[in-house]
Amino acid sequence: MAYIGIGSNLDDPVRQVKDAIEELEAIPDSVLAACSSLYSSKPMGPADQPDYVNAVAALDTLLSAEDLLQALKKIEDRQGRDRSGDKWGPRVIDLDLLLYGKKKINTEELTVPHPGMHKRDFVIIPLAEIAGNVNIPGHGQLTTLINQCVNHSLKKLITGK
Ligand code: ADP
Ligand code: MG
Repeated sequence: MAYIGIGSNLDDPVRQVKDAIEELEAIPDSVLAACSSLYSSKPMGPADQPDYVNAVAALDTLLSAEDLLQALKKIEDRQGRDRSGDKWGPRVIDLDLLLYGKKKINTEELTVPHPGMHKRDFVIIPLAEIAGNVNIPGHGQLTTLINQCVNHSLKKLITGK
């Protein structure tokens, strides 16, 4: 199973996240197995930007991690992602490959598990909704990590998808 982190804080973020979930359903050779509730969170990095809307999706896929990343980038592009902004600056949509089964990947374009995910409440809590006590390779079990993650004032916005 692959897990994908979804985030947006521009141009009607709830709609952007819902649109991204629909796009995930259409990725070839893949089935959207589950999707978390939608949450709001305070931004990391520059604070002078709108709150984020976050969710996590589970995708059962035959694609390689590299091909899946390309599919995610295509969806970001279709939703108008502008890659010129600052790191952690506002974005219309961000799709991160959080986990790809039990694999650890460290290449130039892909780091899995996604760096920092194990510390972020806006990843860990939605992930726990749909992945139970999954192991985060290199970091341990999700239920342990929940107690250690950084508070971004996570609030549930919409239950279910
Ligand atoms: P971030 O999500 O960290 O704010 P971006 O979305 O701008 O950053 O992604 C920058 C680059 O990170 C992408 O071009 C991609 O190649 C790389 N990357 C490395 N690992 C991952 C991953 N697990 N998921 C998504 N992108 C990744
Ligand atoms: Mg990203």
